[in-house]
This record gives sequence, structure tokens and C-alpha cells, in this order.
Amino acid sequence: MSVQLVLASRNTHKIVEMRRILTELGLDIELVGTNEFPDLPDVDETGSSFAANALLKAREVCAYTGLPAIGDDSGLSVDALNGMPGIYSARWAGTHGKDEENLKLLIAQLDHVPAHRRGAAFHCAVAVVTPEGDERIVEGIVEGSLIATPRGSNGFGYDPIFVPSGYDITTAEMSDEAKDAISHRGRALRAIAPVLLELLPTAGRA
Ligand code: IMP
Repeated sequence: MSVQLVLASRNTHKIVEMRRILTELGLDIELVGTNEFPDLPDVDETGSSFAANALLKAREVCAYTGLPAIGDDSGLSVDALNGMPGIYSARWAGTHGKDEENLKLLIAQLDHVPAHRRGAAFHCAVAVVTPEGDERIVEGIVEGSLIATPRGSNGFGYDPIFVPSGYDITTAEMSDEAKDAISHRGRALRAIAPVLLELLPTAGRA
């Protein structure tokens, strides 16, 4: 029987992306989103770093569900904006910022920034917390640059303007598999895989 792991997120994109990566890694884990726990209160992202927020989410969801929990926090750090939107990426255009509005605002803010100053990086911290009290955090980063006009329809968020270093297409123009192979989340999840095997030994498929 597969091990249950609760992902501290209601974001369907993230749940689907994480399930795909965990399966590719050969982990026998049933990843459930917090949508399965409708009474679970939203976790306030009050941390001052991706790692702190990922840990907050995993801790609260583990405490509430009594199951091992995985939390992630991710975002885009833009050089010309001193690392912003960073941990504010999901709410850059306001508390109820939607992906499209966030993207539009960032494009407008970078309007006069020349090509050589358009560096940016996606960051992802992933934390795992178990009912036994184990806590682990890993991080993944992908560097690149931002184009002025959105291209592509895969992915989400800021993908249509993010071109990873060494590529000439945006992450919204990549297949799911190609993005997973280089993405911040793909990297963080590959780094957390051995940790999951250690903390949840029955997740390993012989
Ligand atoms: P989180 O749900 O608090 O981790 O917020 C992540 C936010 O960062 C998302 O709402 C997106 O705006 C942005 N983001 C994180 N990962 C990606 C990605 O892979 N592609 C595009 N945008 C991303």
C-alpha cells in the first residue's frame, strides 16, 4: 500500500506537477492536496524566506492531519527588482493577485529594463515534516532571463516570460517533462526524494 503524503497546497497545477515528478522518481506515494481537508485553515505565509514558508506550511498541515506533510514555497526573484517579487510572487498584484495580473504587472515594471539586465531565477524550497517530529528542507533554483512579450501556453504564473539559461524558449513553451528536468521545483523534489525514502521507508519500490 502506498504511503500518504499531504501536500500543503490547493493549487492543482502544483499537485499535478509534484505527482508527476514523484512518480518519475519511482516513489510509491499517494500525494493528496489540502482540498481533501476542507476544514483545514489556510496557512499564513508569514516567513521571510522560501524555506521558512515551506516549513510553516508543512508543520501546520502535519499537525492538523496527523499525516506526513510536504510544503513548498516558490517564486521568481528578479535581479532588476532586487530579488522581488520573491516570496511575494503569488500576490504581486495584490492580496488576491491572479497569475495573469501578476504577470502583467511584472512585464510593466520591466518595461524599460534592457535585455542585459533582465536576469531572474525561480526558487523553490520544499520541506517535509513527519508526525514523529522529523523536519527537513531542500531548495532548487533555475536561473534565466525575462523576455518582454509572453510566449507559450504551458505551465503557469511567470512561465510565459522566463527563458532558462542556455535555452531560447520560455518554460511555457516547454513540454512538462522538459520543464521538470530543469525547473526549480523539479530540482528541489529530486533533492527531497532520498529524504522521503529515509523518513517514509515504505515509499520505496523494491
Ligand atoms: P507559492 O504558491 O507561494 O509557492 O507561490 C508561487 C508563485 O510563484 C506562483 O503563484 C507563481 O506566480 C510563481 N511561480 C512559482 N513557480 C513557478 C513556475 O514554475 N512557473 C511560473 N511561476 C511560478
